[in-house]
Amino acid sequence: MKICIVGSGYVGLVTGACFADLGNTVICVDSDKAKIKKLKAGVMPIFEPGLEELVRRNVKEKRLSFTAEISDSVKKSQVIFIAVSTPPKPNGEADLTFVEHVSKAIALSMRSYKLIVEKSTVPVNSGEWVERTVKIFNKRNIEFDVASNPEFLRESTAIEDFMHPDRIVIGVKSKRARDILLELYKPIKAPVIVTDIKAAELIKHASNSFLAMKISFINAIANICEKVGADVTEVAKGMGLDKRIGESFLSAGIGFGGSCFPKDVAAFIRIAEKVGYDFAILKEVEKVNAAQRAAIVKKIEDTIWTLSDKTVGMLGLAFKPETDDLRNAPSLAIIDMLKPHGTRIKVYDPAAMEKARPLLKKSVKFCKSPYDAAKESDCLILVTEWNEFKELDFKKIKKLMKQPVIIDGRNVYDPAEMKKLGFRYVGVGRG
Ligand code: NAD
Repeated sequence: MKICIVGSGYVGLVTGACFADLGNTVICVDSDKAKIKKLKAGVMPIFEPGLEELVRRNVKEKRLSFTAEISDSVKKSQVIFIAVSTPPKPNGEADLTFVEHVSKAIALSMRSYKLIVEKSTVPVNSGEWVERTVKIFNKRNIEFDVASNPEFLRESTAIEDFMHPDRIVIGVKSKRARDILLELYKPIKAPVIVTDIKAAELIKHASNSFLAMKISFINAIANICEKVGADVTEVAKGMGLDKRIGESFLSAGIGFGGSCFPKDVAAFIRIAEKVGYDFAILKEVEKVNAAQRAAIVKKIEDTIWTLSDKTVGMLGLAFKPETDDLRNAPSLAIIDMLKPHGTRIKVYDPAAMEKARPLLKKSVKFCKSPYDAAKESDCLILVTEWNEFKELDFKKIKKLMKQPVIIDGRNVYDPAEMKKLGFRYVGVGRG
């Protein structure tokens, strides 16, 4: 099939490259000319394992191309995916300006039947808005369908998730749209849910909010564990073995971040508000998450006493391992909370340093290694659980630090082992 993907970010680029790898001809469009220039030169604008190789292979086979020009790409394609960003407005509501722009641009360029697919995460009813917008600017009265096909890939395992998803969700109004999407996804072996557009849109927000709720739930349990002297990792293990609960997303820590969970939870609260439902559980999910970030700063303070004139070494900046994504990363919130105290901050991340430099500028010292971050620090805080940080030489670290203090924001280290090595160790919810 001939496919056009509008928005070549984490989702659009992976989706485009994967569809190309399945044998389709894909044009990835982006309004960011610098991004397109990079892609044309074979340089990936994001860090995603396996992506560079996948893109290179499909560009070479002439199944994948990049352009900043939407009009021609729409004309050449039968299926158009909208994969642009849907960022939060100050009140948390999803900003759909980009989705509207793209819908209009598609309508103005259509010359033959098009299937327009929402891939971006959008509030329920957005499909109707897309359809209405296309109708207004579709002066030639060209036939088209709108569908919803939310994306569930996770950064860091995006290609694997796209090719082997738990399920494929297709929200459609017509048989024609349904048949095209079923044909497109035929090579992917996964259960397919064919439903209406509203249900498909809701499935995405409901799923992400539920996962965020699991994280906040276990973080709330972690707070109780700290008060009674129990270990939340043991509690989570015991809970997770119950198949009805499941073990994933039960890791207590400094809370969720990234470009999706915080944004989608906030958007879902506003969506509910608009239709007259007070989504109180989700408001609490947000509260617990914010409190986890603040709690880690208090832990540092409780362990090393005053924060001014102290040095904190930070291991990890990205919101999770195997990505360079810093959007809504807990690291940035923690740095913001430490700075007013006059704390010196040294940071190291295996992939996110380049993206962090313009954001953090001179407010932190960028280090070459975890050991460099530990050097002369009063406290070492683990923020992102990269594998590299799980196998550090702690004897060496202890010698480098001013005080042997580890604040383990992800419960990666064994408290007993750390104590044996002579560290003051503080995890999350570990007695
Ligand atoms: P992103 O910011 O990485 O990419 C979006 C791209 O859209 C950018 O490159 C931007 O330049 C481009 N763009 C914006 N307006 C445009 C326009 N008018 N024409 C062409 N290009 C335009 O965002 P992302 O992380 O890929 O997310 C995209 C959508 O997918 C969001 O709705 C997000 O919630 C959803 N989503 C993201 C993930 C994830 O893990 N990142 C997972 C599932 C769903």
